[in-house]
Amino acid sequence: MLTTRDEDTIASIVTGMSHGSVAIIRLSGTDAVAIASKVFRPGGRFRFGWQPETHRVYYGTAVDGDERLLDEVLLLVMLSPRSYTAEDVVELHCHGGGVCASRVLRAVIEAGARPAKPGEFTLRAFLNGRLDLAQAEAVSELVSARTAAAADSALAGLQGGVGAAVSELRARCLDVLAELEARLDFDEDLPPIDVPELKRKIERIQAGIESALRTARAGSLLRSGLQVAIVGRPNVGKSSLLNAWTNSDRAIVTEIAGTTRDVLEATLSVGGVPMTLLDTAGIRHSDDVVEKIGVERSQAAAAAADIVVMVVDGAVGWTDADSDIYRALWGDGPGSASCKVKGLSLLVANKDDLRGSAGAQNGAGGSVASTSGGDGGGVAISKGADDPPLPLPLLARETFAAVVRTSASERRGLETLDAALLRLAGAPQLASGGVSWSVNERQAEALVRSHEALMRLADSVSGALPLDFWTIDLRAALLALGEVSGDEVVEEVLDTVFSRFCIGK
Ligand code: GDP
Ligand code: ZN
Repeated sequence: MLTTRDEDTIASIVTGMSHGSVAIIRLSGTDAVAIASKVFRPGGRFRFGWQPETHRVYYGTAVDGDERLLDEVLLLVMLSPRSYTAEDVVELHCHGGGVCASRVLRAVIEAGARPAKPGEFTLRAFLNGRLDLAQAEAVSELVSARTAAAADSALAGLQGGVGAAVSELRARCLDVLAELEARLDFDEDLPPIDVPELKRKIERIQAGIESALRTARAGSLLRSGLQVAIVGRPNVGKSSLLNAWTNSDRAIVTEIAGTTRDVLEATLSVGGVPMTLLDTAGIRHSDDVVEKIGVERSQAAAAAADIVVMVVDGAVGWTDADSDIYRALWGDGPGSASCKVKGLSLLVANKDDLRGSAGAQNGAGGSVASTSGGDGGGVAISKGADDPPLPLPLLARETFAAVVRTSASERRGLETLDAALLRLAGAPQLASGGVSWSVNERQAEALVRSHEALMRLADSVSGALPLDFWTIDLRAALLALGEVSGDEVVEEVLDTVFSRFCIGK
């Protein structure tokens, strides 16, 4: 079983396998130095005797059991407890490309190390008390971060943000528990419990849990990102919009994938959230109506998307062709049996630069408004009196959470579109760069359980049930909080957490 503490010295290539000019093999465990010494031959003045000092780098060669040269390497020693795992760690820095590192690793294994399992280095760091469980999870989140904001959030977690917040809540629960248990043990000597004060304490702990839970949405957005489908009739500017978006500093992958397929796809960082944009009917501009609209592709993409962005020509306004597309995707409106769109809906009125008479443009790109609470006749996207609303059919008005005016050709309105997407996705604060630590799904689930236990506790207190009942609920809350930091955690939880890691972490 993965989480069983063992004395094996483990080894793995800890850098990416194929490319790069350096590949690193890490050994961790009691025999790390002894095993490395069988493979490593120091050069220079250490040729005639070598006793590695901690946190020093040595140059030399790696050899196999028959003294055959495998690579020129650098060896780095980090003795316990000043290492990632808090055990003796030795790193061998080999030439990259895969071949050198694989055969040096084989030599290390033949010399007595065991191949590390996924996440095993970090698991040992956790078991040895170097990291709490939330920090260990942050390591995995950090290496899989796709945007700077996601990395920032993981770093804040690695610095101990989640664990510290939860430890503080645990400490407060423990205080209350001590108070209750004292009453159970020697109730005749102590003043009666101040019930209103106890209730206030419980409420404050619950409020702390709630505020930790509020970070979950931002966290899941940063980690998983969003699928955004761009739909709309031909020539409204979907591809141009995608291009304007990707040719900005938002682009994660600059080339647009799928130009030979029927769907254009680009990955962007919108306010730090990785968003995969799908331009569904973006390639073929056929005369065939069905093909033109790309109905089937659009329907499939729209069904899978978290957010569907429908683009219309803002200079022309809503047309019958737009109604056709609307019906193909939204049917009789969100929630109706004929509705293909499962996620949220946003309307973009593009070509804002062409709106109104030439020369009368007033830089209106980027204005946004809610479709509800408009002026009845249409959607108020008004910035001023000379900025008329975009008239929409009633159904569409109820469908789209917001309307954003853009000009793809002049690259206006994109920031507003970013903000509208983030607001729709439920993390508006990400738009202003407000990224801090966030709880992941596992942690959120445990926090919810502790919150529920505190609800039961509050009920037991209100219902004046015997004190034993109170402590049972409180202990359940404590146990759940302990799962977040790993203070109280069962082996199965550790197994699932660390099996998600990549090899070498
Ligand atoms: P799609 O069929 O929806 O993908 O539309 P395209 O992106 O291919 O654009 C159709 C035409 O509209 C092209 O000639 C674009 O240059 C033009 N276009 C796209 N966006 C804008 C815009 O914001 N303003 C203006 N004036 N023209 C635009
Ligand atoms: Zn196009």
